[in-house]
Amino acid sequence: MPNVESFQLDHTKVKAPYVRLAGSERHRLGSVLQKYDLRFLQPNQNAIPTAALHTLEHLLAFGLREELEGVIDISPMGCRTGFYLVIWDEHQPAEVAAALTRVLQRVINATEVPAVTPLACGNYRDHSLFSAQEYARLVLEAGISDDPFRRT
Ligand SMILES: [Zn+2]
Repeated sequence: MPNVESFQLDHTKVKAPYVRLAGSERHRLGSVLQKYDLRFLQPNQNAIPTAALHTLEHLLAFGLREELEGVIDISPMGCRTGFYLVIWDEHQPAEVAAALTRVLQRVINATEVPAVTPLACGNYRDHSLFSAQEYARLVLEAGISDDPFRRT
């Protein structure tokens, strides 16, 4: 069986919301890629409805690229409790947590969702800015930790 890092994580021990460096890969020529978990909700206790998750995906796609250099991809987790971030170079969890906090603060004040057209999106009818803002508020009120286990 292949080793999938995220299936090794004990999902009962983490305390959301948090960002977690799930892995770093160094290419033989020296480039580094990082994968981060951006966990919004406590695993196995709740899940973001798809319309809110989809709207957050659109807003994070623009917002995190404004905040962080080298963003390759932001994708929703299948369990709907957060997102994966793939990014070039080495970033610190605290830097990612601060960037995500600033993006979610802007989500709360957003008045429209970018790229909601049949040309730009694969399911443009399935969006909810209202719901996305409610979940952004929940996450911000709880505070985004850079330690998934909140040891400090
Ligand atoms: Zn879309």
